[in-house]
Amino acid sequence: MYRMKKKIRAICNEAVSLSLRKRAEDCLLLTEIDANAVDGTDYRRLLWELQAHQIELEMQLAELRKAHAKSRALVARLRASETQLRLGFDYSYDWEYWQKPDRGIAYMSSSCEDITGIPPAEFVANHRLLRRIVHPEDRAIMNQHMRETAVNRADAQLEFRIKNPSGEVRYIAHRCRAVISPEGVYMGRRVSNRDITERKQIELKLMASESRYKTLFETASDAIFIMSGEVFVDCNAATLDMFRCTREQIINKPPYDFSPAIQPDGRDSLSAAREKIHAALQGRTMLFEWWHQRADGEVFYAEVSLHAFRIETDDFIVAIVRDINKRRLLEQQLEKQAHTDVLTGLNSRGHLLALLEREIKRAKRYNSPLSVAMLDLDYFKAVNDNHGHHAGDMVLKAFARVCLEVLRKIDVIGRVGGEEFVVLFPETTLEQALEVAERLRQAIAAMNVRIESGLCIRFTVSMGLAALDNNDINLDGLLTQADKALYQAKYGGRNKVCCFSAG
Ligand code: GH3
Ligand code: MG
Ligand code: MG
Repeated sequence: MYRMKKKIRAICNEAVSLSLRKRAEDCLLLTEIDANAVDGTDYRRLLWELQAHQIELEMQLAELRKAHAKSRALVARLRASETQLRLGFDYSYDWEYWQKPDRGIAYMSSSCEDITGIPPAEFVANHRLLRRIVHPEDRAIMNQHMRETAVNRADAQLEFRIKNPSGEVRYIAHRCRAVISPEGVYMGRRVSNRDITERKQIELKLMASESRYKTLFETASDAIFIMSGEVFVDCNAATLDMFRCTREQIINKPPYDFSPAIQPDGRDSLSAAREKIHAALQGRTMLFEWWHQRADGEVFYAEVSLHAFRIETDDFIVAIVRDINKRRLLEQQLEKQAHTDVLTGLNSRGHLLALLEREIKRAKRYNSPLSVAMLDLDYFKAVNDNHGHHAGDMVLKAFARVCLEVLRKIDVIGRVGGEEFVVLFPETTLEQALEVAERLRQAIAAMNVRIESGLCIRFTVSMGLAALDNNDINLDGLLTQADKALYQAKYGGRNKVCCFSAG
């Protein structure tokens, strides 16, 4: 009885609802009544016990209800979080899915349709679509990937192309990893496919343009090299041909290592090169002629252009070097030909007159003396008539040789007509010129020219001298004066030197 009462009292204390507590208290009251009875009744005791048991059952029921309510709340929370998760995947730009071990699709995000043009439900209904959509050329790498990941279950990634039902090709960056449950069971693979078509197309365009420029660079006949600071960092094949060296011999070397010590203008290559590199780095496009030197020591004329460019924070210079050596040598040869009389090797008429013009200007500017002589061989027509034109040519050549021997280093002689010559005496007064001219006249008169027939020919020359003693006189005026003096020499009997006098 005592245990019964204790139990009912405990129910009173622990009752979860007011009604239950009330009923337990009623029951406790009944046990009090029973305790006061003289003789116990089994029915009552039985009733008390049943009531207490009922109360206990009700309490258990209440507990169960509470637990049920809790689990319902838990399920609702789980559903909400699953919806959130799905929403998250569905709003992802990537094409996400979970492929079960039997290759069936457990879930696929809606972005799949944006990328493949096929709704996710179709993939879920038929997972083989996944293989079919892969570009035929990439099926082999995809099959290999599937085989490998099925065996090793490792994280993996690859790039492949898909071909949409419309025929459009898209590039996909694929990443996947095995899903393993907390109990260690393999649940398939979680896949994330990113559409990288735009990036890939830019990459392909860049690669195409890079290969175009590479071809241009490598097939150019000019040497093209890139300098960083003062050294070569890259060069094309033409550079190696031009400098006759290997890549190892040129990379990391400065350009002045491939130049002679001195440039045509007399400047030392080191400081001249530094100056030009500096100017290019200041943004000026430099175009200049330069003496370069090949690895075997041969110096050649080059036309160089320098242009600076910047990659991020680093400055570079691209140099284009054209070998103009042949052109330059040809030009020099042509120039020499134009300046030289073919028969005698003396200055040509044009060149001599140009030199004379320059010397007249200089003499006027510095108020320095200048004289000219006009020479004409005497009775030269007779040489031709008597011995032939060829003998006449030999005489002209011999005459030129003697002139070069007798005249001073500073004097300049040119052939201005058939057997007419002009001598320019720079920094020379009329008296001084007369002295030289007289020496020349005597030397000519003393010479013998042996012609092919074995005969020796003697001949003389007449000369007219004039000096630049008047600032108003020009080239023509000076030559006219010399010509007048020459006429006097001829008129006076030939083999003479006459000076022009205004009177
Ligand atoms: P003068 O003393 O008056 O000068 O008499 P000249 O005979 O020299 O007369 P002129 O100056 O008129 O004659 C020049 C001659 O020179 C005529 C021409 O046949 C000859 N001659 C001109 N050029 C050449 C040439 O390149 N070679 C040869 N062999 N003869 C030339
Ligand atoms: Mg003449
Ligand atoms: Mg003559």
